[in-house]
Amino acid sequence: MIAEVIVDIAASETDRIFDYLCEDTLPVGSRVRAPFGGKTVTGFIIGKKEYSDCPTEKLKKVFPTPDELPALNEECLALAEKLAARYRVPKALTLRLFLPAEMRTGKVRELVRSFAQLCVPLEDVKLAKNAKNQLACAQYLAQNGKTDCARLNEYFQGGVSGLEKKGYVKITKEQVFRDPYKTLPFENELRTLTPDQTAAVETIERDTRTVQLLHGVTGSGKTEIYLTLIAKQLQAGKSSIFLVPEISLTPQMLSQLRARFGKSCAILHSGLSAGERFDEWWRLRTGEAKIAIGARSAIFAPLENIGVIVIDEEHDSSYASESAPRYTTFDVALLRAKRNGCKLVLGSATPSVETYKRAKDGEFSLIRLNKRINKKPMPEILLADMRREVRRGNNSAFSGALKEELERCLSADKQAILFLNRRGYSQTVICKECGYVAKCEACDVSLTYHRDEDCLKCHYCGQKYGMLSACPDCGGKKLTYAGTGTQRIVADLQKLYPEARILRMDNDTTSGKEGHYKILKAFAEHKADILVGTQMIAKGHDFPAVTLVGILDADMSLHFNDFRSRERTFQLITQVAGRSGRAEEKGKVVLQTFDPENDVLRFAMDYDYEGFYDNEISLRAAMAFPPFSKIVRVLITGEDDKKTLEALREVYVGLEQLYTQNPEKFLFFNKMRAPIKRIQNKFRYQVLMRLAERDLLPYIYGICADAKTREVLIAVEENPTNLS
Ligand code: ADP
Ligand code: ZN
Repeated sequence: MIAEVIVDIAASETDRIFDYLCEDTLPVGSRVRAPFGGKTVTGFIIGKKEYSDCPTEKLKKVFPTPDELPALNEECLALAEKLAARYRVPKALTLRLFLPAEMRTGKVRELVRSFAQLCVPLEDVKLAKNAKNQLACAQYLAQNGKTDCARLNEYFQGGVSGLEKKGYVKITKEQVFRDPYKTLPFENELRTLTPDQTAAVETIERDTRTVQLLHGVTGSGKTEIYLTLIAKQLQAGKSSIFLVPEISLTPQMLSQLRARFGKSCAILHSGLSAGERFDEWWRLRTGEAKIAIGARSAIFAPLENIGVIVIDEEHDSSYASESAPRYTTFDVALLRAKRNGCKLVLGSATPSVETYKRAKDGEFSLIRLNKRINKKPMPEILLADMRREVRRGNNSAFSGALKEELERCLSADKQAILFLNRRGYSQTVICKECGYVAKCEACDVSLTYHRDEDCLKCHYCGQKYGMLSACPDCGGKKLTYAGTGTQRIVADLQKLYPEARILRMDNDTTSGKEGHYKILKAFAEHKADILVGTQMIAKGHDFPAVTLVGILDADMSLHFNDFRSRERTFQLITQVAGRSGRAEEKGKVVLQTFDPENDVLRFAMDYDYEGFYDNEISLRAAMAFPPFSKIVRVLITGEDDKKTLEALREVYVGLEQLYTQNPEKFLFFNKMRAPIKRIQNKFRYQVLMRLAERDLLPYIYGICADAKTREVLIAVEENPTNLS
């Protein structure tokens, strides 16, 4: 038989299918070893056929690996095929989504250990008197059964091998799974569902629509509903996928899951070591684990017989992939749900406008939870007008109202969270004499000053630069800092409250496998009074002692020029505010703004999602923005400016033709430089379109696929979340 194989060679462009000879019995989906360019590499059989276009004598043979199952199951192969067609990318690329990177590079292996077991009854073990180690070892094995040889060698040096030589002991090699969560504390608290939760579970199970939207305020107990649905499927022998935006950020959730499902769940996230991820993946493939939990990529978990798929915080922007293929998690989840005939449950306190419209239109079922658990009130949101603060002569980052509440909170021995969506110390370094702004050499963006390392950092590529002592342009010595970052806030807070214990959480403080976890754990154990952080503190956390949340600049995200900025501001305020007052004590939120009349802030203050939605959807309709249209950006990037521009021209000519043939289907059409002209030394151009209908999409993908060259990357983005 001929096998169609994709090979995986790290850092090489072999997105093609290669023909090999293989044994008839080797199933499609198998992982194989394939001779390739003088080496042997890992490959995957993605199809089989009788004949090859290549002469048979030229074909090489692939060898099977000892896997007990093909790595790719039938559903994965079919889905990869669909996605490749939808996004017009090579099948090899979509197949990779279904495999852990560690498996493809072949660098990580199963962990295999030797185990010893007595093969005769203890009475029949006849040993010399001085063979003390062997005797003790035999007794130990008789008592404890099969045991890891490494452990036996520690206890009874040489004992096992002596017993083996005499034929009393059998040694077998077995794969063992690395357990990434050995150190995780168990949070073992089984709760009885409230009547509202029970009703939600029943509705979801009863309703016949595939997609179920669970719209519940923060703290309404959505997690418990997901877990109940998953547990029921597990009982019925079915598997589940549970997606959360950033699982490594929520150790509480991890503990809860491990306590509830033990080894039945496999948690996939970026904080795991390569070996751990590899093992977790195989546990799912073999069915030892039936629940896959993780971020976006866990939607590709190698499960069969899926009973439910859950997407928590469905509005989160991390569910859209930002590299090829640019799939949206929802689309893949829907394909899998339909194929498995199971429910797809979306949950959020602030559903995306697109999703909510589909629910209101009846396409999705809509389940509401309007109250927090135990009817706890939502925290009160106070508005602080920062214009008035400035007029009063307060130029600090903290309003009078926030300081007052902070003092009250600290003296009551409660905790506070301050949110600011900008890390570093100050946003930019500016020369007061000539107006020079320090910028990254590889990216067209200004640098951020980091005081702890006394350096300037580019937040796009991570490059560090030494702090300037004089302006490189005019030689002036009057450099000043503009804009405030999290580091600056911590420094200012410490001056105001020398006694307070302050923690900072942002991309700079959370490196390493347990970076987030350590900070969150310390805060949860009340080893700090104030947590200052970027939006990574907004999500999902449940700190009972937090009674105050300060949102330092609520307007920040309002001023991005993209159609989702109002929506995102509403979501962010609601999510951050939701961290306050989750236990007995009533919570408060201080929202600082330069734009106190802004209607988005007003809706957020009143927790009025419906009001926000009605307002937003009529704006979108009036302006023909999504969901009433589709925004498509073709982004063209390359290191050579001229070649990139050439590619842009070629794409543009093709697209323009489409446009002139179907003018009624376009609401907007233009080519330009991208807002950030250069990132990591790559020049960036774009063609921006707004489509009235989706039927032109395949043509757009086609035009872009045809214009692809070696030097230039062309990406099609649908309703992109990030338009930089
Ligand atoms: P959401 O995900 O909707 O924001 P959570 O699932 O985090 O809400 O639940 C909020 C709080 O209520 C958590 O502290 C959780 O432990 C608690 N909780 C949830 N369900 C119950 C229940 N049935 N009984 C008691 N406490 C519950
Ligand atoms: Zn840079």
